[in-house]
Amino acid sequence: MTKSYPGVIEKYRNYLTIPASMPAVTLLEGNTPLIPIPSISKQLGANFELWIKFEGLNPTGSFKDRGMTVAISEAAFRGAKIAICASTGNTAASAAAYSARAGMRSIVIIPAGKVATGKLAGAIAYGAEVIQIDGSFDQALDLVVKLSEKHPIALVNSLNPFRLEGQKTAAFEICDTLGDAPDWLSLPVGNAGNITAYWKGFKQYHSEIKTGLPQILGVQASGSAPLVLGHPIDNPETIATAIRIGRPARGEEALLAASESNGRIISATDEEILSAQRLLASAGIWVEPASAAGLAGLKKQIEEKKLDPSDKKIVIVCTGHGLKDPDIVIEGFSKTKVLAPELNTLEGYILNG
Ligand SMILES: *Cc1c(COP(=O)(O)O)cnc(C)c1O
Repeated sequence: MTKSYPGVIEKYRNYLTIPASMPAVTLLEGNTPLIPIPSISKQLGANFELWIKFEGLNPTGSFKDRGMTVAISEAAFRGAKIAICASTGNTAASAAAYSARAGMRSIVIIPAGKVATGKLAGAIAYGAEVIQIDGSFDQALDLVVKLSEKHPIALVNSLNPFRLEGQKTAAFEICDTLGDAPDWLSLPVGNAGNITAYWKGFKQYHSEIKTGLPQILGVQASGSAPLVLGHPIDNPETIATAIRIGRPARGEEALLAASESNGRIISATDEEILSAQRLLASAGIWVEPASAAGLAGLKKQIEEKKLDPSDKKIVIVCTGHGLKDPDIVIEGFSKTKVLAPELNTLEGYILNG
């Protein structure tokens, strides 16, 4: 008899701190592939095993679904009718989809002009009430926190502890697939919920089922790297809009995850991030810019001889799908020719360049 995959809540219910009888509002998120990419480890010039945890393959195209299934299930369980979040885009799309599934209203507040097309489209398609503000993500987050404190509206940003409960399942999946924790885990850091959730998940498996612990490499974009610089950034800038955050809500916990794991948080420039995005695409994996930060950071650490990958097992988390932000690729695309619909012309072009 086959048993189909039930989504992260039912799969890992015994490991999650959630109300015991809470039903799952699920889109069967999680269970994403851990894809080996030997072509890239070879290019980085060392003998090591490299995998991509491709979180862009979740139902709404980002890892946010792992946390959102738990946050919305819990909100629905206690009778909430409205969910609210601030978002750089992916949280909005995810909150909208899971709220729709639960029959709840969803309100998302986004920084005007700073959300990638595919994310905004998702939020609208799933029926969210989208409000743009002439301000930053950090300002949007302040506002939704205040709104949720004053009114019976469920806050589903990663300040909500149930989001992290769901997101830590990615660490469980990696250990379940590899049979142990990797030596290093590299991932982008924005509001710092995900790095916090991974570390929580790895530590829990370590104490409950005796897997090892990875060293964590968190990567911010140079133009919005408050955790690297040691102070908040008022006007964060980067093409990696998912991590364009100047005051990470879980910054302290992120720094703790880095230090406890004997890892670190570093930054990569937009150029390095886009170059890593192309490198991943060369291996058949298209991710949005923020999602390439993990590889950009790892590559930099190896080149600067700050991390010796030899004989190691390294996992890079690719947080969101490339389709989320098509414009960044199309912009850099050299104009293609439009040719006459003739065999000769096509042959000439293809064979002679
Ligand atoms: C949300 C998001 C991040 C950042 O995660 P945090 O938990 O805010 O640090 C990175 N990449 C993508 C694609 C995201 O959607």
